Amino acid sequence: RGDSAEPVIPFAQPGSLTRVYAVASGKGGVGKSSVTVNLAAAMAAQGLSVGVVDADIYGFSVPRMLGVTARPTQVEGMIMPPRAHGMAVISIGMFTPGNAPVVWRGPMLHRALQQFLADVYWGDLDVLLLDLPPGTGDVAISIAQLLPSAELLIVTTPQMAAREVAERAGAVALQTHQQIAGVIENMSGPVYDANGKAIELFGSGGGQAVADSLTETTGTRVQLLGQVPIDVRLREGGDSGKPLVLDDPQSGAGAALHDIAAKL
Ligand code: ADP
Repeated sequence: RGDSAEPVIPFAQPGSLTRVYAVASGKGGVGKSSVTVNLAAAMAAQGLSVGVVDADIYGFSVPRMLGVTARPTQVEGMIMPPRAHGMAVISIGMFTPGNAPVVWRGPMLHRALQQFLADVYWGDLDVLLLDLPPGTGDVAISIAQLLPSAELLIVTTPQMAAREVAERAGAVALQTHQQIAGVIENMSGPVYDANGKAIELFGSGGGQAVADSLTETTGTRVQLLGQVPIDVRLREGGDSGKPLVLDDPQSGAGAALHDIAAKL
């Protein structure tokens, strides 16, 4: 990669054909990582060449969700990412011993992300998905710097109270001059109680509200790409490393995620 001091990130080069999506959320626990790995698996199943970067450095969960236990190897100074379900995957969790926590300050995060993008051998990717940490901190800023062409995918729940937080995560795009690819509502209702009565566990309307409000703040049409229902099998698939989109693509949540993947 020459002698230049700044590492070369292939996805940031002019003429790069790789579409890059940074999956963001306001709050944690809304299903951002689950959505990321399922969208990635759905795209790989469509025959695309897909890479996944677990940019949630402190809260990494992608290796478990994709069932990756292999560690990266080194070939000619490049890091070879493990593969799972037909895609290349990198996570800080593959470099830490056991389940050790990552205790780093901001500049270290930036270095790690830079290495994930420049020193990993990705080959020719059609799509790169990044699972960002929740919120608008160091990693979101680093990614905007390292990958200015990355488009944001905002994951939120239907809950109106979660809406303002998700809107802030999307409004980052204004400052970083990034595009917003759309909003995904996850954990949409209903679930049913013992009497068969429908309950909107996390309320309703949040996804559309976030899309509408981001349309207003950015002055560009932001659409709600889809609603992914609550499904215990989506959670189980995450725990067992087998994404629901592969295990049961016809299920409500599986089909919704395939639909969204097809729009990206
Ligand atoms: P985040 O990345 O936003 O912190 P996760 O993807 O880790 O969120 O999801 C949080 C929890 O909710 C996990 O246990 C996950 O398995 C579960 N989960 C996510 N989406 C759904 C869904 N649609 N239905 C059921 N459980 C879900």
